[in-house]
Formats: sequence, structure tokens, C-alpha cells
Amino acid sequence: MAKKPSNNYAVIGLGLFGGSVCKTLTDRGQDVLAIDINETQVNTYAPMVTQAVIADATDETAMNNLALGSFDHVFICIGQNMQASIMATLIVKELGAKDVICKAESPLHARVLNRVGADHVVQPEVDMGQRVADRVLEPNILHYLMLNKDVSLSDVRVENPDLLGQSLSQLNLLERYHVTVIAISHHDQVTVSPSKQTQIALDDTITVVGKTIDVDNFNEVAG
Ligand code: ADP
Repeated sequence: MAKKPSNNYAVIGLGLFGGSVCKTLTDRGQDVLAIDINETQVNTYAPMVTQAVIADATDETAMNNLALGSFDHVFICIGQNMQASIMATLIVKELGAKDVICKAESPLHARVLNRVGADHVVQPEVDMGQRVADRVLEPNILHYLMLNKDVSLSDVRVENPDLLGQSLSQLNLLERYHVTVIAISHHDQVTVSPSKQTQIALDDTITVVGKTIDVDNFNEVAG
């Protein structure tokens, strides 16, 4: 099998968010260039990453000299200084970076970042707030992943008595709910691609994949 081409990453802004991005990438064996205007932040992350540099992300010449345009993925993790975040995004895109992922502090900041060319914009507090609230509202949905804008995967703990004690063949979830069961977990034991004879017991977790609308519908029924 052909070797997967390795990617290189640049992380600009080494606050809590950027630092966490750096740590995750390096823990997974990736090459990371870490940049911050603040020497203390750079010194903190220098032992961890491939290269750490003190530089101002709004300085076009400095960004060009660091060849930011040649990186596969550039994370702009400057939050508080909105002007610097916007200018850095514009500069890095104009230098030719293919995939620029930015952190925004507010919806308006996110809109501006999109306008100047950010490929992805995240709002960590907003995203995490939604997740925490969802977790409380839907305690039976243990994991939920959107594979793309139409297709999702979820782990749902089954509590609906109508589903309990029945086999997958009796439940016929593909026909009734248009979802495919890819695993069933009973306590710590996970059965991948369960057979049609597998019966559902109380507190089993079913992993299903399907169109988001169908997965959401099944989660409502099962939990
Ligand atoms: P967090 O909430 O993730 O801690 P902050 O916005 O507080 O995010 O931190 C962002 C980081 O970005 C800080 O370490 C700051 O020094 C750095 N930073 C701010 N402006 C620039 C700039 N112009 N160039 C490079 N780094 C910057």
C-alpha cells in the first residue's frame, strides 16, 4: 500500500486553544511550527514542537519568510486580538495556505474570518456549550459524529421497552428507520457487525450510521 503523504502544520497563537492544538498534533507524531508574538509562550511550547518561533502574525514579511503559504494546514488561534486574527488569516491565505482553520471569539468575528478566506472557523466556547447542553438534554446519546453534512453516526443507549428483548432481524432497523447497525455494546463488550440474531438488552448501546435526519429520528425512538 502507498505510504500516506505526511502533512505539516503551523499553529499561530499559543494560548490555551493553540497550545492544545500543538499538543494534540505533536502527541500524534506530526511536524508542527508554533508561532507566537510572546516569548514566554514560545518558550513554553518549544520543547514540544518541531520548531517554535517568536513572530508577529500581522507582519507579512515575517510570515512569508516562515513560508506559511507552503503549509498544508495553518491554525490561527488568536482570539482576544481580533484585528491580528483577521489580518493573519488574510496574509496566510494570500501567501497560498490551502487549509486555514481559525478560532473566533464571536459570531461577527467568525463572519469576518469567513469573508477574508478562512477555510474553517471554530468557536470553541459556543461549540462546547452546545455539546454540554446536548449531553444533559439527551443523556442516552453517548457519542454523535457528523461524517459530512448529511450523514451521521451515533451511539445511543437503548431504553425504549419496545426494542428490548428483540433481535436485530425482528427490529429491522434498516427498513423501519433507515439506519444501519454497525456495533452493539453490552457493558464493556463490543460486538462489531452484530448478527441478525443478536438481541437488544436494557442499557445496550447501539452504534448506527445513516442520514442525519434518520439517525436523529432513531435516537429519539431508542433513548
Ligand atoms: P486563548 O483563549 O486560546 O488562550 P488568546 O487570544 O488569549 O487565546 O491567546 C492568543 C495567543 O495569541 C496569545 O499567546 C498571544 O500572545 C498570541 N498573539 C496575539 N497576537 C498575536 C500576533 N499578532 N502574532 C502572533 N501571536 C499573537
